[in-house]
Amino acid sequence: TDKLLDVKNLKTEFHTDKGNLTAVNDVSFYVNNEEIVGLVGESGSGKSVTSLSLLRLLPENGEISEGEILLEGRNLREMNKKEIRSIRGSDIAIIFQDPMSSLNPVLRVGEQLMECTKLHLKYTNDQARKHAIDMIKRVGIPVPEDIMNRYPHQLSGGMSQRIMIAMAMSCNPKLLIADEPTTALDVTIQAQVMELMLELKEKNKIGVLLITHDLGVVAEMCDRVMVMYCGRIVEMADVNSLFKNPLHPYTKGLIASVPKIGRNSDVLPYISGRVPDLSQLPTGCKFAPRCSLAIDKCHIEEPKLIYVGENRQCRCHLVNERGENHEQ
Ligand code: SF4
Ligand code: MG
Repeated sequence: TDKLLDVKNLKTEFHTDKGNLTAVNDVSFYVNNEEIVGLVGESGSGKSVTSLSLLRLLPENGEISEGEILLEGRNLREMNKKEIRSIRGSDIAIIFQDPMSSLNPVLRVGEQLMECTKLHLKYTNDQARKHAIDMIKRVGIPVPEDIMNRYPHQLSGGMSQRIMIAMAMSCNPKLLIADEPTTALDVTIQAQVMELMLELKEKNKIGVLLITHDLGVVAEMCDRVMVMYCGRIVEMADVNSLFKNPLHPYTKGLIASVPKIGRNSDVLPYISGRVPDLSQLPTGCKFAPRCSLAIDKCHIEEPKLIYVGENRQCRCHLVNERGENHEQ
């Protein structure tokens, strides 16, 4: 297989006092080298649980109960804790929304950057220092030596986001998973950080899984995109097709709701209601209670994710294999 990341039939459950809740349900997708794949949906749709599952970073009560997570053919799901820990930080890098959650508050920035290459790439002190300075320059910080000596709390928000990217990129990962990487930043810094990620993707030829609720970000950054709802993929397409001709009613609603860049509200102006609670999922199509196009069948039978043409998928009773709406 030439796929960098190949996720097959991923199912993630949480064991709670409301019973077993399925947060990720039969999710399959791939990411190629030099490709940015977007994963979009409102909060609560299962995006972050998907990324945490890939990294095996689920909380105690979470469990991957089905599926395979293949990174260059190796199944991450079957690795032991030690193996998976060495994959994280080397082959797979992670950028979260909150840089402070990834930076160690009691270590200077330089030490943190050097730690990674010393551990994973067996760099000497000198090599690691040189590399750290180089990485800080590459994320657009002009005086690296000064930053090296600072503690994380001495950095501005944009600065710490850049340092986190420098850290994520410093071990030459093959796959970068970025979960809402720019959501907490102001618009100017947001644009700079995205520019940087694009550049790193091209220079280092890595694959990126970009998780965001912001379709504006998707339009600018991604090659392909998956739309997630209630733990299911409801649509998958290349970015141009998705924006030009969205097929799923949820995707249409998301696109219609795209505002100016930087909206962080959870409420979508063109889709009424909210993502249902996992413990109270409707039978039939999970989107039916919010869907203005729902027909009787939608409330009874859950649609399957079908191929619409060669490279597109959609999960809706109204969309047939040729990508046409019918039964209306
Ligand atoms: Fe709407 Fe029915 Fe399609 Fe679900 S299956 S998105 S309820 S039309
Ligand atoms: Mg999230």
